[in-house]
Amino acid sequence: QPFVAPDNTKILEYTPLDQIPIGVQKLKDAFHTTQKTHSVQYRLNQLRNVYFKIKDNIDEICETLELDFYRSASETKNLEIVIGLNELVHTMSSLHKWVKPEPVTDLPVSLQTNPIYIEKIPLGVVLIISPFNYPFLLSLSAIIGALAAGNVVVFKPSELTPNFAKLFTRLLSESLDEDIFFTINGGIDETTKALEQKYDKIMYTGNNFVGRIIAKKAAETLTPVILELGGKSPAFVLNDVKDSDIPVIARRIIWGRFTNGGQTCVAVDYVLVHESIHKKLVEEIKRIIDEEFYAEFKTLDNSDDSSTITPSYTHVIHDRAFKNLSNIITTTKGDIITGGEVNSTTRFISPTVIDNVSWDDSSMKGEIFGPILPIIKYSNLSTALDDLISSGHDTPLAQYIFTSGKTSRNSNPQVNQVVTKIRSGATMINDVVLHVGLVNAPFGGVGNSGYGSYHGIYSFRAFTHERTTFEQKLWNDTALKARYPPYNDKKNKL
Ligand code: NAD
Repeated sequence: QPFVAPDNTKILEYTPLDQIPIGVQKLKDAFHTTQKTHSVQYRLNQLRNVYFKIKDNIDEICETLELDFYRSASETKNLEIVIGLNELVHTMSSLHKWVKPEPVTDLPVSLQTNPIYIEKIPLGVVLIISPFNYPFLLSLSAIIGALAAGNVVVFKPSELTPNFAKLFTRLLSESLDEDIFFTINGGIDETTKALEQKYDKIMYTGNNFVGRIIAKKAAETLTPVILELGGKSPAFVLNDVKDSDIPVIARRIIWGRFTNGGQTCVAVDYVLVHESIHKKLVEEIKRIIDEEFYAEFKTLDNSDDSSTITPSYTHVIHDRAFKNLSNIITTTKGDIITGGEVNSTTRFISPTVIDNVSWDDSSMKGEIFGPILPIIKYSNLSTALDDLISSGHDTPLAQYIFTSGKTSRNSNPQVNQVVTKIRSGATMINDVVLHVGLVNAPFGGVGNSGYGSYHGIYSFRAFTHERTTFEQKLWNDTALKARYPPYNDKKNKL
């Protein structure tokens, strides 16, 4: 069943359906007639406008996300704005280097004097569809990649964060020329209309179900697609972990699960811990949640809505997700060792840890995308990996491995065993989530977590056509005459 979002039209003005083809066509015409995005200086000017506009409105951006899902300004600043602005600066300072044509190397002797190179040309009109969970970073990062590569952008923000979408699209519209940037606000109807138009590339970030709709629609017009999807990203805790390392591992896992109310595409979805470490790790996770990170929830009264609104905890985005998550809590066969409190009015779910979970538990069916952490105990790493593969969750967006031994796969056979067996969008050893902030490393999924990647130069490449250009001399025909008929043995000699 397609998910129909709550009616946010009172906050966000949806784009009239008949304006969508007109807006997209206007951008197409501008791309082809003015050709202004071919100028690198023009692109840099546009990006600079965006940079200053955001710098001037950081507090306002944070406030919108507080309104949309009680997100604290610290999470918005640290996990979205700092990373987004870093990438913008990195893009602006690298663009001259990235756009330079690259010479083709390893040419045969007969062609070594020819100019043969790879040009970096814009694709044209790019459609970017963004999700609600990190709406600033995931939108900005894609938009700046597309603009830096010289494209014009049709942007569809998530309607689930309406206060944010309203402000952000206004800020971008004020910074960018109207013939290179067009926003479509709305839900399924507006996105469906947007997808009826022809683009040169579509980038979609969101859930797997909608990802398939986008890819099918794009296939009708042979439009290339980048799909940034989710998945169940595991955290392995290996049997070599020392007691003294357990607190830091527990802290990192908790942060990687419960930040943003668990609504992070690369969140720790579940823990796979060796039986020899299991008891101590679970005790430490519980202690840190109850006594350190979320100690304030001890005195919280669920039946009092306002009591559930605390400054450092993000709530669930909408009622349907809230019901799915509450359902996991009520149907799990594991042991809830902390949390499990819910408030449906504010869509609050306290940080919930479920221990002694089996692979067929309700918490292991699909990506949780909320503040629930299942813990599976294993006795043999090979068997655990086989079980993971049979579960079908074997191409997650990220995988995390905690070890007190060597961190390199070449020196740690267990790390090597995990990373060889499990294909994942990214791997982190001894930490979680931070790879998202790398401005110049490819970020993307594999298998069910999507295809294509972006960030830094990878964004530039994702939105660029690398065109091989071969300059030949007309006088240079003697050496190449063997290709012409009539063929004979002399010409066929290798
Ligand atoms: P969402 O509901 O905000 O949807 C994302 C976008 O899809 C929105 O713009 C929405 O309007 C559009 N959409 C929704 N239904 C549609 C339909 N039927 N047809 C066309 N468009 C439609 O966000 P979400 O999908 O719930 O996001 C959460 C998911 O995204 C999780 O699975 C998460 O792991 C994944 N995610 C992945 C990444 C990544 O970088 N790989 C980043 C963030 C989130």
